[in-house]
Amino acid sequence: MLVLVVNCGSSSLKYTLFQGEIERGTGLMEKLGGPVSTFTRLVDGAGKDPLSLAVPNHEQAIRLMMDWLIRDGVIREAREINAVGHRVAHGGPEFTDAALVEARVRNNRIARELAPLHQANYEGIEACVKMMPATPQVAVFDTAFHQTMPPRAYTYALPYRFLTEHKIRKYGFHGTSHKYVAGRGAQLLGRPLRKLNLITLHLGNGSSLTAVRHGRSIDTSMGLTPLAGVVMGSRCGDIDPAIVPYIMERENLDAGQVERLMNQESGILGLSGISNDLREVIKQAKGYNPRARLALEVLAYSIQKYIGAYHAILGGTDALIFTAGIGEKSPKMRKIICAGLAGIGVQLDPAKNRKAVACEMFIHDKNSRIKVAVIPTREDYMIARETKRILKSRQCTKPAVGMYKKKLTNELTHGKLPANKGKPRNAIQI
Ligand code: ADP
Repeated sequence: MLVLVVNCGSSSLKYTLFQGEIERGTGLMEKLGGPVSTFTRLVDGAGKDPLSLAVPNHEQAIRLMMDWLIRDGVIREAREINAVGHRVAHGGPEFTDAALVEARVRNNRIARELAPLHQANYEGIEACVKMMPATPQVAVFDTAFHQTMPPRAYTYALPYRFLTEHKIRKYGFHGTSHKYVAGRGAQLLGRPLRKLNLITLHLGNGSSLTAVRHGRSIDTSMGLTPLAGVVMGSRCGDIDPAIVPYIMERENLDAGQVERLMNQESGILGLSGISNDLREVIKQAKGYNPRARLALEVLAYSIQKYIGAYHAILGGTDALIFTAGIGEKSPKMRKIICAGLAGIGVQLDPAKNRKAVACEMFIHDKNSRIKVAVIPTREDYMIARETKRILKSRQCTKPAVGMYKKKLTNELTHGKLPANKGKPRNAIQI
């Protein structure tokens, strides 16, 4: 079975074509809409010459992707692809699971208003539907895994009508990654997921932690948007909300400018004044740069506090699971974080920790009360898996696919997508 995974960012397209578990073709197009876009790709694991050309929008990017999948001999024609799985940032309150792309996904007004910056996700869906109208498409939401949070975890203590009228609540992100590493963690521990309490740490450019009880997310650090939670590359994470109007007044900034400041100029970058890339900051910290050192300490402290809180609400933790760029590749950061967790019984094995770089490995000492694992995340693979699961559960037999095609074509011809009523905000990444 050939499953294409499509991830459209505001100015990028990432794709992977899976044949079973094998990645037949992967690619990344960046700077879409700019004068020169770049396109790098792998075919059966082998790198191809990068291309530089102008790709004006996501529709053209999807066409280009398909042209090259054919030119590189991965497929003969688009129709060979059995299903397409799309990464969609926000599912809003409605989607508790991945879903077949139908009107309720494409016209998901609330999710579109909550994530105006992720319109690209929908542009990718529309382009694929247009190009492959007979191929089932599935939306896999970053928020879906966290829909199991109880109201006490997702409700903000604002006037209640903000929840009911505007759907302002915690949604959480990186759900596909948290779900994958929790499941894989259970396999590696050799115990059923339904009997485990896990804390999953997705630490990349954007970072979030999740408390996973018996396979279900019961709390997560990101909120209505991916700005909340722990300190990130250039995002501040949790701050006193009263700081926002205070900064606006003192620096004469409008709401958009403060939002940009908190998303793009804060976090590790803002504290260190060096970079949002932790590698650079670690280098400078070794040279005793005081701001670099402070940045690492503030980052680790914010993560330790979430771990402590989640350990408490879980009623004990079986394992911590580190994933994403920092979690997978930075023994130094894992060491600093875990050094502050001796009180809850976390003890690393320093040699194992040093060795665990971008591979699956347990890194705790044999006396540690809580196990600690490093598990590289596989979001694309997970999206392909979710896509297959949804198709199977919807029993997309031939007649069902036929009906689906008719419905999609109708929607495409007659359906109007809702105007985005949300105010455009600054570009944020998840
Ligand atoms: P994204 O959140 O954009 O998907 P990743 O999960 O790939 O990003 O994480 C990228 C970040 O991981 C980089 O910005 C860098 O800060 C961090 N990183 C990657 N490798 C290392 C490393 N060896 N040591 C420390 N940090 C690293």
